[in-house]
Amino acid sequence: MSGWETVIGLETHVQLRTRSKMFCGCATAFGASPNTQVCPVCLGLPGALPVPNGEAMKLAVRAALALGCTVHSKSVFARKNYFYPDLPKGYQISQHDEPLATQGSLSFLSPERGLVTASILRLHVEEDAGKSLHDRFPKVTAVDLNRSGVPLIEIVGGPDLRSPAEARAYLLTLKQVLEYTGISDCDMEKGSLRVDANVSVRPTGASELGTRAEVKNINSFAFVEKALTVERDRQIALRESGGTVVQQTMLYDSKDNMVRPQRSKEESHDYRYFPEPDLPPLVLTPEFVAEQQSALPELPAGKRERFVTQYGLTRDHAAVLTASRGVADYYEAVVRAGADARAAANWVMTEGLADANDHGDELRVPPAALAQIVALVKGGTLSHQAAKRVFGEVAARGGDPRTIAEALGLVQVADTTVVAGWVTDVLGAHAPEVGRYKNGETKLMAFFVGQVMRASKGKADPKLAQRVLEEKLAS
Ligand code: ADP
Ligand code: ZN
Ligand code: MG
Repeated sequence: MSGWETVIGLETHVQLRTRSKMFCGCATAFGASPNTQVCPVCLGLPGALPVPNGEAMKLAVRAALALGCTVHSKSVFARKNYFYPDLPKGYQISQHDEPLATQGSLSFLSPERGLVTASILRLHVEEDAGKSLHDRFPKVTAVDLNRSGVPLIEIVGGPDLRSPAEARAYLLTLKQVLEYTGISDCDMEKGSLRVDANVSVRPTGASELGTRAEVKNINSFAFVEKALTVERDRQIALRESGGTVVQQTMLYDSKDNMVRPQRSKEESHDYRYFPEPDLPPLVLTPEFVAEQQSALPELPAGKRERFVTQYGLTRDHAAVLTASRGVADYYEAVVRAGADARAAANWVMTEGLADANDHGDELRVPPAALAQIVALVKGGTLSHQAAKRVFGEVAARGGDPRTIAEALGLVQVADTTVVAGWVTDVLGAHAPEVGRYKNGETKLMAFFVGQVMRASKGKADPKLAQRVLEEKLAS
């Protein structure tokens, strides 16, 4: 869209991967029957007191550190007050003026601008609300409080993204970091990652930000780009027809790929934040923060660069192999089992990921077996084609690659005497072609090699066959 620049900032809510809730011992497991994972604290019964979940605090601090934030030694829980049927206490415990962490950043690969470093303005801890179910019973709304009190962090990104595609890339990178570190499973379909997107447009070259609208209800990764594109186009059309953008909340409807303004009475403008009287300020010792730092694994960007230098891979290949921690660990195990690093990379990226894709993301060929397959190809025992069959067999039924190759009759014959026998037969049966070859039609070599492969039922080592053919045809 020439003439207009898009500006996007994302507010991402991420469920921390804990077994129990933020301020009580109730389970967080997904999919339980409605209102079976509740207690006086998360039901908001009078007199029940919240007790912070230590594991949640560890994960929140790790998230802040992984995103390069400054973690504050003191932060304050605050009540965010609003009325909604799925909020039994009438407030959500969150953090406001004094959040856990501020001033971080996230570098990601923009499809338009290359490597971009987006700022993270703040990261704070809060509890989730319950869920209103509008489609469970006809004409009435039901409330499920299993989610009430589930631990979340909110990550507020700066207005640094410049297109819907960039917002998607940022979000995928954020998800990758949080998955790597075990902080969250980031499953948008299960609600463990939710994103609200602030969108504005301004004339290209302007330095001031335009008025933003907030897009909510984007409940799948597939819709992030679509929803933001719809909102951006709406704003541009509005501005071009002389209108002004109103700061408001827009709800995305994926069925019609449309946004509509939220009814204004659903918007609560004043949360009347105040410090949570039932909880003291959260004070973190330098030792606690240092412990969380050392509990962090190697992050995806660092791993990618290490794969480039350590294994001599291209950055693109390293990015594919480090996209998930499981694949990266698997690749390194194959190399450790003795496989050539680049050949192993090719096998994992092609056969390995294709097979995993069809089998619930499981990498079915054990690292040692794949290393052996790579070695069998390198040593000339298996053709690449035959090795793929062996790979498929090991994936489906397990077993030792060499034994399988032998059982399937796939082992290449690299014995010169045997290959020479096939060559003699082939040349004897094709006297006219031999004559043409000797008269300079050397491209017939491919034909002879093909005939030898046929005579050997695919078992001849093709390179050896060609060498023997060249010798015999020269004499
Ligand atoms: P509030 O206090 O109203 O929540 P913030 O300043 O915290 O506002 O910003 C909330 C989010 O909106 C952040 O992710 C920020 O990057 C984004 N944002 C702020 N202004 C704009 C704008 N003009 N266009 C796009 N995004 C914006
Ligand atoms: Zn509870
Ligand atoms: Mg905000």
